[in-house]
Amino acid sequence: MAQSIAAYSYEGICELMKEWGQPRFRAKQIVQWLYQKGVESYDEMSNLPAALKERLQQEAPLQRARIIDKQVSEDGTRKYIVEFADGKSAEMVAIPSGDRLTVCFSTQVGCAMGCIFCATGKEGFTRNLLPGEMVDQILIAQKDMDMRVTNLVGMGQGEPFLNYDNVLAAMRLVNSADGLNVGARKITISTCGILSGIRKFAHEPEQFTMAISLHSAIQKTRDVLMPSMVHQSLTDLKQDIRDYQEASGRRVTYEYVMIDGLNDDDDHLFALVDFCRGTMCHVNLIPINEIEGSVLQPSSEKAVKRFLSELEKRGIEATLRNSRGADIAGACGQLKNMRR
Ligand code: SAH
Ligand code: SF4
Repeated sequence: MAQSIAAYSYEGICELMKEWGQPRFRAKQIVQWLYQKGVESYDEMSNLPAALKERLQQEAPLQRARIIDKQVSEDGTRKYIVEFADGKSAEMVAIPSGDRLTVCFSTQVGCAMGCIFCATGKEGFTRNLLPGEMVDQILIAQKDMDMRVTNLVGMGQGEPFLNYDNVLAAMRLVNSADGLNVGARKITISTCGILSGIRKFAHEPEQFTMAISLHSAIQKTRDVLMPSMVHQSLTDLKQDIRDYQEASGRRVTYEYVMIDGLNDDDDHLFALVDFCRGTMCHVNLIPINEIEGSVLQPSSEKAVKRFLSELEKRGIEATLRNSRGADIAGACGQLKNMRR
């Protein structure tokens, strides 16, 4: 049965070529056409034999994602909704800064985790994205911005570690010299803390980086904010992060959305300080973007500044995520929800 070429990892394309009795360099050529040159059809792959192009078209059809909506912020940030071959769509954001272009891509259509502050969580889960569908988002951003992508963050819609193999395949295509050639250290994946994923990720050979959506170091609060995580203890999470650091030697970023009156008082601050102790980390504080139909409000500037200064006082590196593109509905899922 035909299966979209987007479903294949680099390794998968190599295996397919082997199965079809093609020389190994064919896989390299195909990956270059798909993910370096970003062609729209097999016809354009001028160094492939016609019979191979024909067979690819039949058995591994190529249909690229396309932009169906775009918003441009005053600060240059662009937010897109991209549609895939089956008509499903996801959001992504391109954030230019000098010579740098950071792209925030989605890993699933929707998300099953249901975090109460997240617009994507409200949408529920539809399906996993394929490796090629993730790389397509990045190619789209490069083309539309007329810039080369320098940094990637898997912080769009979806939970990457619930789509582990496809996400890793996409990251490898982006990292590959035959793909987008972005350094592994410049590729960050963000997880709400799926332990099986963290354990696997610790042993991947590349220097990809990881961010953990912590949001509260007090179990009871975290259970409320992230209802799908209720069965996961913060003690286990911390242990797995430590094991990850031991195996990989890499620092993690803790993402901490700040919600007025929910996770921004002194108890939460000191619990966070405690959680950070003994791990090499960086804390990224994110006052929430308000989402439609939700009573949750961002923390006051005073509360955010207090977190920042108290963390720094204790030698814990902390930054405030500047809300790029706030005027076009900052956080993931919001643009898509506004279209309804
Ligand atoms: N599912 C993964 C990755 C995608 S969500 C995860 O949860 O880590 C990535 C980030 O989106 C979350 O850490 C959170 O920081 C951010 N986010 C979600 N809803 C938000 C909102 N309303 N305001 C600000 N940030 C939000
Ligand atoms: Fe899913 Fe992340 Fe949103 Fe939670 S914050 S619902 S894990 S996308």
